[in-house]
Amino acid sequence: MGRALEALERLREGNRRFVSGDPQLDTLSSESRRDRLIEGQAPFAIVLGCSDSRVPAEIVFDQGLGDLFVIRVAGNVVAPSQIGSVEFAAERFGTRLVVVLGHSRCGAVQASLEQLQRPTDTRSANLRSIVERIRPSVEGLLDTELRQKPDALLREAVRANVRASAHHLRHGSEVLERLIRRDGLFVVGAEYSLETGVVEFFDGLPESI
Ligand SMILES: [Zn+2]
Repeated sequence: MGRALEALERLREGNRRFVSGDPQLDTLSSESRRDRLIEGQAPFAIVLGCSDSRVPAEIVFDQGLGDLFVIRVAGNVVAPSQIGSVEFAAERFGTRLVVVLGHSRCGAVQASLEQLQRPTDTRSANLRSIVERIRPSVEGLLDTELRQKPDALLREAVRANVRASAHHLRHGSEVLERLIRRDGLFVVGAEYSLETGVVEFFDGLPESI
């Protein structure tokens, strides 16, 4: 758990620098750092984030070359290739923290809600495959009073989708289950606010936090 906690703290500190407008990105991408990384990498965190252009993990956490192993896909959904990427990094590099990073006003989550409320056949099968992965975690929300409140509905849906992806990573892979049980791997869920720049960690945190 020690390394996961340490990694979480580094991400929090980096996000604080980003929010305060005092990032260290220049030094984090320097030529000397690039040179040191030619022979290998040891990223301290794995981030599964959304492809949204406004949420690049390295920038919002103020981390540099070699720090983060990042997987980005619209809606931060979990399909076999995402699980395989996480397994690869956790096994190969010994990385012990996985962050599922959703964000406010996520277009992929919004599209899934729209599809549930007004089904259409116009999307491609590929795009539908993303929507279908988001659907199970958000469709129950449409049976609640949130149905009448689009903004609150989207906020809740973003978090439900992050929780579902984190849960899927924790329980959809024997490799990751073993690393969680025996080797201190943590999978946590977080949300980035487009409005404030703050990343809030809200799911799966170690109990000592
Ligand atoms: Zn998104």
